[in-house]
Amino acid sequence: MTNHLDEQMTDLYGPQPQFSDYKQNEHITYTQAGETHTGKIIWVCGPGNVAGRHLPTHYIVERDGTGDTWPDTVYQSDIIGTAPEAEDDTQEIAIVQCPWCSGWHQVNLVKLCPNNPHRDT
Ligand SMILES: [Zn+2]
Repeated sequence: MTNHLDEQMTDLYGPQPQFSDYKQNEHITYTQAGETHTGKIIWVCGPGNVAGRHLPTHYIVERDGTGDTWPDTVYQSDIIGTAPEAEDDTQEIAIVQCPWCSGWHQVNLVKLCPNNPHRDT
């Protein structure tokens, strides 16, 4: 999986480690400053030395309900576990080409297409 965003993230944070307890795009529950949050891992940073300090593996996490604010930096010890997927508009519904009208519908709406000859009325 390589795209432009991944390249930018690699420039910023370095390549993701091959092994980590949690992976990119996982949804986790974690603590930050004494509060519990959930969020999506947008990047995994491997252990390394930053400005003379040794940093363990840590995660760049977009906290749920925040959009474009600065992401949280979450350490292994801050992670409580994986979280169920948030029910919000980030949920992806596949869009498919309709066999009846050749337009594009959400996959669950194709059977409701007005041109569908098998449509339940
Ligand atoms: Zn249709």
